[in-house]
Amino acid sequence: MLEIVPVPAFSDNYLWLVHDDASGETAVVDPGDPAPVLAELDRRSWALTQIWNTHWHPDHTGGNLALKQASGATISGPAGETISGRDVALREGDTIRLGDHVGRVIDVPGHTLGHIALLFDQDRTAFVGDTLFVMGCGRLFEGSPEQMYASLGRLMELADDTKLYCAHEYTLSNARFAAFAEPDNADVSYRLAAVEAMREEGRITVPTTVAEERATNPFVRAGDWREFARRRAEKDSFRS
Ligand SMILES: [Zn+2]
Repeated sequence: MLEIVPVPAFSDNYLWLVHDDASGETAVVDPGDPAPVLAELDRRSWALTQIWNTHWHPDHTGGNLALKQASGATISGPAGETISGRDVALREGDTIRLGDHVGRVIDVPGHTLGHIALLFDQDRTAFVGDTLFVMGCGRLFEGSPEQMYASLGRLMELADDTKLYCAHEYTLSNARFAAFAEPDNADVSYRLAAVEAMREEGRITVPTTVAEERATNPFVRAGDWREFARRRAEKDSFRS
């Protein structure tokens, strides 16, 4: 079994530690800041063996070199982007391993052009970076709406109970936008209330599941890329 632990960083990032007890291997996903990662590793007596990056943005890669220096961990990241300290260039169809757990790499362009997601199908676990957020999606800094809509569609092809681990706590703002975009969607209203309660108690709302996103994510639920593009533009200027 994979043990997955959030390490909060900056104002709203989650850096994910992934630990396999059988092999003793530990990976970190998108370590923007090395200090909180090292502290959590130390607290758990885990040895970092791998660093996985989903895209090049500094809040996802800023800790790469310091962590590699501290641990000797191998850095794997998207082939199509400049990733500091990268040892292994990951392309669509490649596999990554943590102990006996095998993940596959898919391209999910949109937020950035070389953005990848890491899918551990057997473990019903996916690391999606800044492509999909709980009830939302990443901004289109490099890619087109067509690309992002297709990328979200690929994530929605995963098994219903797949847990999606994204890199930011944007859920409350996303849930408010979802209620604006789909005022008649009862699943959205119900989830907005649940998210408000969770955030009031300071609880983390990530991960989500494929089934929950199919029911409540207005970007996934857009009928085509044009509707997706309209909603993405509305969200960019939405004040909740
Ligand atoms: Zn980003």
